[in-house]
Amino acid sequence: MKILVVGSGAREDAICQSLLKNPNNVVFCAPGNDGMKLNGIKTISIDEDEFDHLASFAETNAIDYTIVGPEEPLVNGIGDFFKRKKLPIFGPIKEGAQIEGSKVFTKKIMRSAHIPTANYQKFTKLEQAEKYLEKVDFPIVIKADGLAAGKGVYISPDRTDALMKVKSLLENHKFNTKKIIIEEYLEGEEFSLMAFVDHKRFYPMPLAQDYKKIFDGDEGLNTGGMGAVCPVENISLEIEEKAIETVLEPFVKEIHHQGIKYTGILYAGLILTKKGIKVIEFNARFGDPETEVVLPRLKSDLSEVLWSMINHKKVNLKWQKTGLNLGVFAVSQGYPVKSIFGELGSSDEFKNCPLSINYAGVRKENHQLISNGGRLYLMKTKAKSLAEAQQQIYFNLDKMKQDNIFYRRDIGKNSI
Ligand code: ATP
Repeated sequence: MKILVVGSGAREDAICQSLLKNPNNVVFCAPGNDGMKLNGIKTISIDEDEFDHLASFAETNAIDYTIVGPEEPLVNGIGDFFKRKKLPIFGPIKEGAQIEGSKVFTKKIMRSAHIPTANYQKFTKLEQAEKYLEKVDFPIVIKADGLAAGKGVYISPDRTDALMKVKSLLENHKFNTKKIIIEEYLEGEEFSLMAFVDHKRFYPMPLAQDYKKIFDGDEGLNTGGMGAVCPVENISLEIEEKAIETVLEPFVKEIHHQGIKYTGILYAGLILTKKGIKVIEFNARFGDPETEVVLPRLKSDLSEVLWSMINHKKVNLKWQKTGLNLGVFAVSQGYPVKSIFGELGSSDEFKNCPLSINYAGVRKENHQLISNGGRLYLMKTKAKSLAEAQQQIYFNLDKMKQDNIFYRRDIGKNSI
């Protein structure tokens, strides 16, 4: 099959590599990145928001179907655009992508479906939000309603901080915010549960755990994700089954009941609190970096799975049951505040690395890979144990001897 993958990060690299496991597939990534080319992926210089050009490429090159990695094109209606042109696409239409595009929308669905989540109130007026903050306990969580690339969530330790954050969102309209939610702070173990969804049917993937904080020991600022592990040994099978039963199942049922025809990935960000499992967020696409460690465990042919789902046919997913997949992101020094750019090393050094690499913020100049800032590349492996996987990854990351990068040394720690 000929498949077009939209996006440019390590997640899209991992999706492409999974699709390429079937040697009959031809896979293009738009826009992709220079690092992916080292993995043999054909990149096309069309940006993810250029729906017209993407559709023309799909038409001209007889692409069998397109799969969308990031949330923005989905929330902006790439699914609807392709459907209008009768081009097969894997990813929800705009109406479905609202589960990621609007936190208020998703909270309402959860309320209707009795899905456990943090108690919340929504606000559009600053005075009302300020008044509400007089009577709440701290810490409290303040979230911009729309997309904010992971930056629109604040955990405020006290009223002074909360008032400042609320003002920046509702008065200064940071992230173009007109609506916010203020929600209860939840404490517990976070984990991610993704599923392939086709209208009423859904197929869960194995659990993964993303390490979001910049520093070891979960210290410092939130990032896009510093690494991930799959499966999650510190979450029991019983909890996994409960999450499928009390979160995925009622959510899929409810969106179907509301008339939303959802075909795509559903990502549930969950937390195991003392009072049980609660939902932190839903996303309308594959998680990054969870995908990089989950997809290598899929034994079924991903290209066939997606094709069947686009055509509303049942699928039978087979997953590897043994071992552990671990991925660690190398990020720019200074990330997530202010990335330092610079040379990373020759493309040969990267090519000769014995472990698999998914590339993100890198470009190539004269045989050198250069950092574009942010998350740069994810090095990953599969091993019998966490200790073995960590040993392999950290040995090879250390060997790269790159001055401008930083990585956490404890990814997977909660699995011990
Ligand atoms: P954005 O909206 O900016 O794109 P996002 O959708 O990734 O961000 P969330 O997933 O809702 O934002 O939150 C990011 C992180 O903040 C969570 O992974 C979690 O660690 C923390 N967080 C969010 N909500 C809560 C909560 N109610 N209690 C405790 N921590 C929370």
